[in-house]
Amino acid sequence: MTYDELYKKVEAQWHDSYKSKSWEIIWEIVKLHKPNEQGDCYLCTAEYTVTYPCLTVQAIEKELQ
Ligand SMILES: [Zn+2]
Repeated sequence: MTYDELYKKVEAQWHDSYKSKSWEIIWEIVKLHKPNEQGDCYLCTAEYTVTYPCLTVQAIEKELQ
């Protein structure tokens, strides 16, 4: 799953759960793993895309299957 797919999936879950706090928290975590130059999560940054997804993102993806 690409980052954009994961993002949209979590956003949909959040919406379908009537904006539950639990999904909001997971969504916030996912946002921190957006591949970008700032490198909020150094394993998921542009420079290290070879290591995307990190274990945190993998755990979220696993639960979404
Ligand atoms: Zn990450």
